[in-house]
Amino acid sequence: TTGTALSAEELEAGRRAYQLDRRHVFHSWSAQELITPMVITRAEGSWVWDGEGNKLLDFSSQLVNTNIGHQHPKVVAAIQEQAGLLCTVAPQHVNAARSEAARLIAELTPGDLNRIFFTNGGAEAVEHAVRMARLHTGRYKVLSAYRSYHGGTALAVNITGDPRRVANDYGNAGTVHFHAPFLYRSQFHAENEAQECQRALEHLETTIQLEGADRFAAIVLESIPGTAGIMVPPPGYLQGVRELATKYGIVFIADEVMAGFGRSGKWFAIDHAEVVPDLLTFAKGVNSGYVPLGGVAISEEIFATFAKRVYPGGLTYSGHPLACAAAVATINAMREEQMVEHAASLGTDVFGPGLAELAAKHESVGEVRGVGAFWAVELVKNRATREPLAPYGSSSPEMNELIAACKSRGLLPFANFNRIHVVPPLNISVQDARTGLAILDEALTLADAHAED
Ligand code: PLP
Repeated sequence: TTGTALSAEELEAGRRAYQLDRRHVFHSWSAQELITPMVITRAEGSWVWDGEGNKLLDFSSQLVNTNIGHQHPKVVAAIQEQAGLLCTVAPQHVNAARSEAARLIAELTPGDLNRIFFTNGGAEAVEHAVRMARLHTGRYKVLSAYRSYHGGTALAVNITGDPRRVANDYGNAGTVHFHAPFLYRSQFHAENEAQECQRALEHLETTIQLEGADRFAAIVLESIPGTAGIMVPPPGYLQGVRELATKYGIVFIADEVMAGFGRSGKWFAIDHAEVVPDLLTFAKGVNSGYVPLGGVAISEEIFATFAKRVYPGGLTYSGHPLACAAAVATINAMREEQMVEHAASLGTDVFGPGLAELAAKHESVGEVRGVGAFWAVELVKNRATREPLAPYGSSSPEMNELIAACKSRGLLPFANFNRIHVVPPLNISVQDARTGLAILDEALTLADAHAED
């Protein structure tokens, strides 16, 4: 059905879905009556069809999860096959799909992260990783970055750095926040990446010492912070964090929920730094979100803590066969079709140069940054003062206008505060990637009208 227009029945089904949604569905992170959610009737590869039958290029990968695009035939077939065989099995039993998914993930994750605990998504993965770290160390406090997102459940939102934590702040969960490197808005008055890196590491060590060097169970860090703005860390930073974690006996949890499974042009973003964390959380790209799945990859040392001692945690759907069958098929398809390599070359050949061109051309673009299929366009009112086009923590009429301009031209963008993220499926064609950049180029002309030289 590629490219065909929606039928009258599909359009009618979309209208009915919208009415029922507005009457009965309660949406995430929203003022329920102030939103106009978009109907998605059909999707294929990098494209989606909205309720009016418009075809849009999905530069968002939904919530940065459909890394292999929509409706990949190999993954759809694997889910159907598993559904015919065995739809569900309790976590205490052994299941072939789960065993194979665990084997593949252990093979891909760095170092000796060989043991896999499965969850239903990213937030649960973070919850369990922190719980494991606390039990392993016998300590309680947790370090995490201000500009971060780790999930919407109680602990995950509490260690999150963005304004959603503040809205959910009901007490101290032992979290201490620090500034991770972000040269464009440097907290350290740094003038280059090397300075930013060194000062960020000194700041982290000082924070550890002042807050109690023997009190921290874990440092939770996105290997490349995603939702907060795709800040690729400067060379040496993740190695420095690894050294500090080891020095103070702190468990290093790399949160790879968004950056993992090929998004950055390597299987895991931490692979760019060749660092091995103690725990690694994943979700999203592990099976492109076709069936909810997440998990924690666990080092042999932390595994040993629970070899003869009960791990007091679990989930009815841990290692769900449909989700694991989708993961096995996704990973195999990514390997067979060399999607991680494709994402890397998209970064160096298409998005890197293409976005740099937009930054040079458009006054509203303060900075572009990223790697692989993982890019942010940071929009400003003034390039000298770097005043954002929308205040931190909210949208603005200017950003809403830009998003609408993208959509009306056939591009579904991922927007966050004053940023547009370019995060399409990893297997988007070079031609479609260029089409998306051309639409963004046109739409940015509108944003330029709000920027001053
Ligand atoms: N961690 C990171 C780095 C994320 O980007 C996200 C979601 O965007 C989460 C955790 C939470 O994942 P989920 O929404 O699947 O619970």
